[in-house]
Amino acid sequence: MRFTYESLPGRIVFGAGRRSELPTEIERLGATRVFLISDGQAKAIADDFAGTLGALVAARWDEVVQHVPVELAERARAAVADAGADVVVTVGGGSSTGLAKAIALTTGLPIVAVPTTYAGSEQTTIYGLTGGRHKQTGRDLVVLPKAVIYDPELTLGLPPSVTGPSACNALAHSVEALWVKEANPVTTALSLEGIRAIAASLPRVMAAPDDVDARSRLMYGAYLSGVALATTSAGLHHKITHVLGGTFNLVHADAHSVVLPHAVAYNAPVLPEEMTRLAEALGTPGDDPAGALWDLATASNVPTSLAALGLERGQLAEAASRAAAEITDNPRPVDDAALLGLLERAFDGLRPSSEPGGSS
Ligand code: NAD
Repeated sequence: MRFTYESLPGRIVFGAGRRSELPTEIERLGATRVFLISDGQAKAIADDFAGTLGALVAARWDEVVQHVPVELAERARAAVADAGADVVVTVGGGSSTGLAKAIALTTGLPIVAVPTTYAGSEQTTIYGLTGGRHKQTGRDLVVLPKAVIYDPELTLGLPPSVTGPSACNALAHSVEALWVKEANPVTTALSLEGIRAIAASLPRVMAAPDDVDARSRLMYGAYLSGVALATTSAGLHHKITHVLGGTFNLVHADAHSVVLPHAVAYNAPVLPEEMTRLAEALGTPGDDPAGALWDLATASNVPTSLAALGLERGQLAEAASRAAAEITDNPRPVDDAALLGLLERAFDGLRPSSEPGGSS
């Protein structure tokens, strides 16, 4: 056995009710002036935090936009400076975390993250900023939260229309970590455990959204998936969804949900071992993990066609060539035409088949 594995620092506080430990986490950092970010849907949770933190809150910010427009980041940074904040606390999904990261990138302030979706951004050093029609991403350790509080009770109010796609977003992190060039036995173990946890818990959560145990398992899988993405890299699947979000403004998690089965079908013919392990982790041993992912997605009522997300057929060629230009490494060769084929199937909402790169 021979591999290179680079772990990241991080403190994880996981469990139902553990949001009550937020003041302790802030104290551990020696911080006294909190800049509290939350998006509109997580406002009630942030209100509770503001009540608990009292005078520690130097300022609040509730304007959050997916993919972090540069102009928004600049205004938030100015508000941080005005408030004299020494820590950023973010409550909400990947968009809230993304704004906190944009602030940390230029100020060096520590972040305490309290995620309420399954996006996993709180585990990564990846930041993204969007200007014009292009989303620029990069990696910097300074944006990695110093502490993350995972409290599954905070996800009980997450609507099914967000829960399903967000869980698929997490699945995508783990699935792609199986095939990118940095994959190693440690990241693969994390990924497979993440996939097992998500695949087993997502149907339970969709059937009973207030099942705290099922929500805990789903959050645990999402956490592991975030670590898997953080310690590997973005490959074919993430590059495609990055373009769909950054250039065509599709909702991030919805785009992941639609593309994932097709990305797996595309790479399946050259990855027999990984596909066997993926199928087992999904709880569907056999030779069609792409189909199993599709079945899980449809059973969870997540979007399965790019057309339904608002993309136009005439935009597929540009999306394919932009994504192809970003993909530097994939187990199966990639070009504009191959990606166009993949995107056309995703656009039409076809079930992927186990045939090489094909769909039934
Ligand atoms: P999001 O943060 O926009 O949240 C999705 C929806 O869930 C929003 O409508 C939000 O209002 C709602 N929501 C959040 N918390 C809620 C709650 N407790 N109750 C009810 N509704 C709630 O989207 P997301 O899918 O969490 O994250 C997507 C963003 O994160 C994208 O910009 C993506 O690029 C980024 N991302 C980054 C990384 C990274 O490593 N940097 C990883 C994953 C995602």
